[in-house]
Amino acid sequence: MTSVSHPSNATAQDFVTWAAETFDDRLALACSASVEDSVLVHLAAHTGKAIRVFMLDTGRLHPETYETFERLRVKYPALRFEIFAPEASEVEALVKDQGLFGFRDSVTERKTCCEVRKLRPLARALAGSDAWLTGLRREQSPTRTELSPVAPDGGSPERTKIAPLLDWTLDQVWDFAKANRIPTHPLHLAGFPSIGCAPCTRAIEPGEEFRAGRWWWEQPEHKECGLHRR
Ligand code: SF4
Repeated sequence: MTSVSHPSNATAQDFVTWAAETFDDRLALACSASVEDSVLVHLAAHTGKAIRVFMLDTGRLHPETYETFERLRVKYPALRFEIFAPEASEVEALVKDQGLFGFRDSVTERKTCCEVRKLRPLARALAGSDAWLTGLRREQSPTRTELSPVAPDGGSPERTKIAPLLDWTLDQVWDFAKANRIPTHPLHLAGFPSIGCAPCTRAIEPGEEFRAGRWWWEQPEHKECGLHRR
């Protein structure tokens, strides 16, 4: 990881501005079109830098995810929006091996699908970047409680991962999004607090935890796709 000193007692905007000034065009923003990522895109636009914003198009996303990403692209034209997709030949081999829904059969097969559809495109999306911004929040998952706002990326420690919204509550995120008229994903209003691939995401019931609708057939400690290795 590049040796960096980051702001203490910083606001989310401070973190994003610091990241933009520190890493310049070697900074990227990962956007799943979740409300957290929409807020991050807004903060990125306010740095005045043409930060690269990328989405991983796994081929299994909800139509509303593309719509939201497009609305962000139109609203914030100074940012550079890009989409990274898996290699067609790798998807063909995956489906030949495990079928279209093999990820339901075991954690191993699910992780293989995430590897092909997310992690390899992520590696290409981050090639050439020294740092990336993510919308992770501490309260989202038991696997995220120990995170730091600025830390080496668990998958590539030479790269810095920055989570400006780490200590925001969901109410804070929504209040900010509404106050600033930021485009948000419509499925959030249909009971989807966490947005992912369509067959691996469902609405949650009142009282269920935040990520209960992601890979609901797995134990909570397994519920990471590998994008956010510690
Ligand atoms: S979330 Fe589901 S469909 Fe998407 S890459 Fe992972 S296993 Fe495959």
